[in-house]
Amino acid sequence: MSADLVIKNLHVSVEGREILKGLNLAIDKGEVHAIMGPNGSGKSTLANTLMGHPAYEVTEGEVWFKGQNILALSPDERSRLGLFLAFQYPSTIPGVSVANFMRTAINARYPQPDPSGNGNGGSKGIPMREFRRLLREKMDMLKMDAGFARRYLNDGFSGGEKKRMEVLQMAMLQPEIAVLDETDSGLDIDAVRIVSEGVNQLMSPDLGVLVITHYQRILNYIKPDHVHILVDGRIVMSGGPELALELEEKGYDWVKEGLGHD
Ligand code: ADP
Ligand code: MG
Repeated sequence: MSADLVIKNLHVSVEGREILKGLNLAIDKGEVHAIMGPNGSGKSTLANTLMGHPAYEVTEGEVWFKGQNILALSPDERSRLGLFLAFQYPSTIPGVSVANFMRTAINARYPQPDPSGNGNGGSKGIPMREFRRLLREKMDMLKMDAGFARRYLNDGFSGGEKKRMEVLQMAMLQPEIAVLDETDSGLDIDAVRIVSEGVNQLMSPDLGVLVITHYQRILNYIKPDHVHILVDGRIVMSGGPELALELEEKGYDWVKEGLGHD
């Protein structure tokens, strides 16, 4: 049986240079996968490629999700299909509150009227009352302060608050597969904890998560079912949660030595 998200022999070039060199990965809903790798190994290239960023040229391979090769789809279509990729929001929008932004994101994701006719006003998108209920429910679940919804988007947001935004957006959009690229810069322990707790709270049999990270320590908080190590554009090792611990102890050099690299 095939997995919910299947990445097959993915080759990706950036500015003419091959970065991903035949990456294979399968993720099922209900699972947490972590990809770890040294700087420059191609982690963000994978995230950007899944997102459909135009600078990342797929030269070979396929990415299957719900019976479609999503490489042919626009970022928007991928999102509507149920794929969530962090950082899909612009970095600054003056005068737009977190709540406003969330409502716009939901309406973009679910533009069709509710076929049951239960009060969804078609092109008007999610009714305000329903939206507020959903927002409150998700913020409660994530133990977020209600005042956060009234903050202006990214206006002086700390690293931790940007992560809160990311997790809240994920909770609101209820994706089937979520990809979180935990960039290496400025990720303090607070931010790590926010993302991890958020993912743990959102986990369900209907959600699969791919956490991409340089740091082992995030995996002290998120319990991955599968850990994959990316070196030089390929997954060179896969295992259970114990692989992350082993990596923490021995470092990436241990993996590279095993590969006969210098
Ligand atoms: P990681 O996230 O694992 O640190 P990246 O995927 O960001 O690695 O980068 C892998 C390689 O691809 C690096 O050599 C980087 O310079 C190059 N690269 C990635 N994105 C771009 C880009 N947009 N423009 C030019 N080079 C890029
Ligand atoms: Mg990166």
